[in-house]
Amino acid sequence: MKKVSVIGAGFAGLTVSLRLAQKGFEVDLYESSSRVGGLLGTDITDYGIAERAANALIRTEKADALFKELGLTPDLPLHSSKKRFLFRETPRAWPLNFLETLGFIARLLPKALRGKKNFKPHKGETLQAWGQRNIGPQATRFILGPAMQGIYGNDISGLSASLILGPLFSKKKKDRYKGLLTSPHGMQDLVDHLEVKLKEMGVKIHLNASANPKSLSGPVVIATSAEAASRLLTDSHASVAALLKQIRMSSLMSVTLFFNKAQESFKGFGCLIPRGYGLKSLGVLMNSYIFQGRNKTYNETWILGGVEEDALMELPDQEILKLLAEERHRILGHKESLVDYRINRWKKALPYYNLQLEETLKTIGQMAPTPDLYLHGNYLGGIGLSKILERSEMIAEEIANQYG
Ligand SMILES: Cc1cc2nc3c(=O)[nH]c(=O)nc-3n(C[C@H](O)[C@H](O)[C@H](O)COP(=O)(O)OP(=O)(O)OC[C@H]3O[C@@H](n4cnc5c(N)ncnc54)[C@H](O)[C@@H]3O)c2cc1C
Repeated sequence: MKKVSVIGAGFAGLTVSLRLAQKGFEVDLYESSSRVGGLLGTDITDYGIAERAANALIRTEKADALFKELGLTPDLPLHSSKKRFLFRETPRAWPLNFLETLGFIARLLPKALRGKKNFKPHKGETLQAWGQRNIGPQATRFILGPAMQGIYGNDISGLSASLILGPLFSKKKKDRYKGLLTSPHGMQDLVDHLEVKLKEMGVKIHLNASANPKSLSGPVVIATSAEAASRLLTDSHASVAALLKQIRMSSLMSVTLFFNKAQESFKGFGCLIPRGYGLKSLGVLMNSYIFQGRNKTYNETWILGGVEEDALMELPDQEILKLLAEERHRILGHKESLVDYRINRWKKALPYYNLQLEETLKTIGQMAPTPDLYLHGNYLGGIGLSKILERSEMIAEEIANQYG
């Protein structure tokens, strides 16, 4: 049986190992920390669960299939989560006023009637410039900005429109989007099920272990962050390593707050917060209104961070809680007392989807193929778990075609 080595056991490494094992490969999975899952994980508290990073996957057919084969009954969002808020002085379902809405429609409609291709991003265009060109300044600031920053953790003035919106214009058949899904006990449960399945299939998981790609024979999948991949490849693939080193990493913090009383003024998925208000928070997830079983004690997860916010990661817990109490009061108008909290600081954990990354990925794509080396992870065009799963399947297919 042909052997494949996978380095990094986050969601990317776990799922590519699963797909490779299913294709009959002997898989060795190397993880430098003492557990698998990478960014994914769930803290269990006396008041309910707190997700460390992702709280759900986009529900595609591939994600549904993964849950089914792992024997996990997915938790689907509650009806209350259909309502979403955008902050403009206060949380609003629609943040534009009457005249702005008319302006937005007047700008959008003629373009939309001329076809989808009119919205295609230009090369080297930021999301902010794309928004100004296509939907106007107000919709860019109050809708596009907060929505994209909620996913990519950064202000849209630096984000690449091609990287983020480009896939919507590709001719490739797209997996249909059907909302979200998670595991009833949180994302750690998904990680645990993946680990059990891999072991059942004979995948050898090496914890507290890193492998030098140079010393491995056969195909190697590097499924770490871009930064770690650059370090791993310095000896064996210096030119790829140099390109990966250019990818800027961005810090993000998730803070789950458990309250003595639920806020009932805004019942929904959460609220996204545009820049320009002097607020550090990027958005809040109202967990108890999103998934069932998350209301043991009413709780919310606040997300903060970005490439310019490394200093925020160094603040002690009490200062973060004070900052959030002030911002929560300003945003939601509430001041309930806290009964517990969990803070996860992810320093330089996510790739910054900026114009530099657009250039770097283009250059990597134009390089001669590197035999036996496959790059995987959230910096390669999809930051979310469903995109990572899609890439896992694609890489396993490529390796099977080449070596199977
Ligand atoms: C706060 C937050 C909220 C998020 N919310 C969502 C969400 O709701 N939905 C969604 O789809 N996505 C979300 N994401 C994004 C998503 O969680 C990540 O993109 C995804 O988990 C990344 O998985 P990965 O396997 O690519 O990387 P990682 O999880 O970073 O895994 C990489 C692994 O490689 C290991 N490693 C590093 N170096 C080495 C080495 N030399 N040798 C061996 N192993 C090594 C690391 O220890 C780690 O385990 C969120 C992210 C954050 C931070």
